[in-house]
Amino acid sequence: MTSNTYHFEGKVVIVTGGGTGIGRAVTRAFLDNGATVVAVGRRQAPLDETVAGYERGHTHITDVSSHEQVAELVNSVVEEFGHLDVVVSNAGVFEGGEVEHVSDEVWHKLFSVNLDGLFYLTKEALPHLIKSHGNIVVDTSVSGLRGDWGQTAYNSTKHAMNGFVRCVALDYGAKGVRVNAFAPGFIETDINKEVWTDPERVKPYLDRVALGRTGRAEDCAGIALFLASDDAAYLTGLVVPVDGGTTAATGQGRNS
Ligand code: ADP
Repeated sequence: MTSNTYHFEGKVVIVTGGGTGIGRAVTRAFLDNGATVVAVGRRQAPLDETVAGYERGHTHITDVSSHEQVAELVNSVVEEFGHLDVVVSNAGVFEGGEVEHVSDEVWHKLFSVNLDGLFYLTKEALPHLIKSHGNIVVDTSVSGLRGDWGQTAYNSTKHAMNGFVRCVALDYGAKGVRVNAFAPGFIETDINKEVWTDPERVKPYLDRVALGRTGRAEDCAGIALFLASDDAAYLTGLVVPVDGGTTAATGQGRNS
């Protein structure tokens, strides 16, 4: 549960990747703050778990790398609820590897989910967001702000996503649509559990975090709510790191 209260009563929100980690926390945060939320993913069971107990929580099976499926998602949400106010683009995939070891298949998979998915969702949602003066919040990554070792494909998708956010923000600001991103650093989720539960393995990450702890999905949910809220009415084109201060550093090693 995030500590601030926002007023999303009557608002309709789509959250992609809503069945796990950050997407689940974001979905529940919007539900806790009055919104009607459609949690989107490829598997039904985790989505059902996310919205269990919430009357305003709905689910929709969509592969965001399919333009056809994303169009069907947006159309069916608008048909059912009458309008669309906020889109949280959070679905994504990760694979590591130095560039010589990245297969064409992995390269294209990462771009088709992370970047094409964002493009399809934005393109389909924009006509409705223009009508509602709504906004888009994108879960990118600190990997879209600086380089990473062994993550060329993923890092490239995230840089492209941050560029996309800034460009769409420029083009649609005059039409009343805001577009912002939050860029998580190391966030504790099921996928990286074996790292953050192991003091030895998590140490190199913590050495780079000013706040001295790994992040939690709720840390991201708080910023997603804020960016989508009227309190952020004059903010667009931002990429906000949620990284405990990791990107505050130059990247030079620590010597004290
Ligand atoms: P986190 O939960 O920390 O954001 P994940 O990588 O687990 O990290 O989250 C990505 C989410 O996106 C997951 O819920 C995953 O199932 C979802 N996802 C991945 N690929 C697709 C896709 N093609 N279409 C829809 N959702 C997807």
